[in-house]
Amino acid sequence: MNHQNCDVLIIGGGIVSLSLANQIIERKITKNIIIIEKEKKLGMHSSGRNSGVLHAGIYYKPDTIKAKVCVSGARRLKEWVQERGLPINECGKIVVPQKNELDKQLDVLFERGRLNGAKVEIWDEKVLKEFLPEARTASGRALWSPETVVVKPIEIIKKLEEELINKGVKIIKSQNTWEAEPSKSRIKLNQDDYINYGHLMNCSGLQADRIAHKYGVGLNYTLLPFKGLYWKLKDNCSIRPRCNLYPVPDLDIPFLGIHFTPSADRIPEISIGPTAIPALGRENYEKLKGIEPSMAIRNLTLLAKQYISNRGGFRRYVHEQAFMYFPPLMLKAAKELIPKIESENIEISKKVGIRSQLFNHKNKRLEDDFLCLNGTKSTHVLNAISPAFTASFALADLILDTSILTN
Ligand SMILES: Cc1cc2nc3c(=O)[nH]c(=O)nc-3n(C[C@H](O)[C@H](O)[C@H](O)COP(=O)(O)OP(=O)(O)OC[C@H]3O[C@@H](n4cnc5c(N)ncnc54)[C@H](O)[C@@H]3O)c2cc1C
Repeated sequence: MNHQNCDVLIIGGGIVSLSLANQIIERKITKNIIIIEKEKKLGMHSSGRNSGVLHAGIYYKPDTIKAKVCVSGARRLKEWVQERGLPINECGKIVVPQKNELDKQLDVLFERGRLNGAKVEIWDEKVLKEFLPEARTASGRALWSPETVVVKPIEIIKKLEEELINKGVKIIKSQNTWEAEPSKSRIKLNQDDYINYGHLMNCSGLQADRIAHKYGVGLNYTLLPFKGLYWKLKDNCSIRPRCNLYPVPDLDIPFLGIHFTPSADRIPEISIGPTAIPALGRENYEKLKGIEPSMAIRNLTLLAKQYISNRGGFRRYVHEQAFMYFPPLMLKAAKELIPKIESENIEISKKVGIRSQLFNHKNKRLEDDFLCLNGTKSTHVLNAISPAFTASFALADLILDTSILTN
């Protein structure tokens, strides 16, 4: 039998895992870290399939963990990216109300941004039109977030992986069949190979609840997957928004609505999306691939019950976002921001991601904030939803501050 020993074993190789490993080393806790990843490469799930927007911190209520870590996390990651010369598009973001009655939400976002320490400005229509002539505001006002930037997430993952390996972190890939043996503080990789750990950190994204349950943690929680499809502006389309353009979001719902994002490429590609459609499997990226029938039936039943009870304004989500699979609905949402866009200007993008939202069976609501729970010799990051990519370095520090690993 082969036994490998480590102080910290991290499950999953996404941004949360890599940032944690990085901060454990930065804080000189230990260098003896092993990461196991089920795929052949890192970044195959959310961390390599997101919009790449480093959010500036305008959406979150000031008393939330998201608010605490988004602004500082975004600044730290931006600096890290710039120091390494990785692609970045410092284009900012405009939020516009798509209906007149949403205008007052701009003031809510302005105030949240201000309290969270983000730079924000309210613009009138004249300033908006000078900056982005193609944009529409239903109320004559818009919110400007100059600090929002766009990065290339997969480049960040690759660079962080390379740096961690150089610092002595061992990353073992293609590990999909390991077994948990919590009472022995070890995992079994196969018949002959074990990893013994001092502490285990579960950063397995879309699978985090399933793994936590093996450690007796978070039994009241289930992750529900929502599919994020993207469209893009065709290369020959003359409309090229120069910054992010977002609608005013429904602040009761955890999705930000269809938006325009210019990529961090030299000639930016403009993506439109993502949707937030209930997915039929946690990794159901392609139509029929990755469908989990029993999970899908359970989740759709649960969502139907949420619809009937309308907890947290759930019906609005269903009416406005759940059926965005259909191009005419997506085009309608896009036209509310840029009226000149027509169906011939857009095409479906190959990019697709799946967002996991944590459902709390006790209060029957979707958890809106990050959630990290401790078990015996283990820590479980259960709800690393957006803006976890943006916030990753600061989130890692917060997890370490509150984890039994450092107490
Ligand atoms: C469509 C979309 C758009 C988004 N846009 C943004 C944005 O613009 N800005 C932003 O800040 N955030 C955004 N997010 C959110 C962001 O991508 C996530 O919050 C973040 O990537 C979560 O990182 P993670 O490390 O927790 O998960 P992941 O990246 O999913 O990493 C988890 C890893 O664990 C591995 N794993 C799973 N099970 C096992 C197992 N049993 N054994 C070993 N390994 C396992 C997986 O293979 C995976 O590599 C978006 C997400 C999506 C889906």
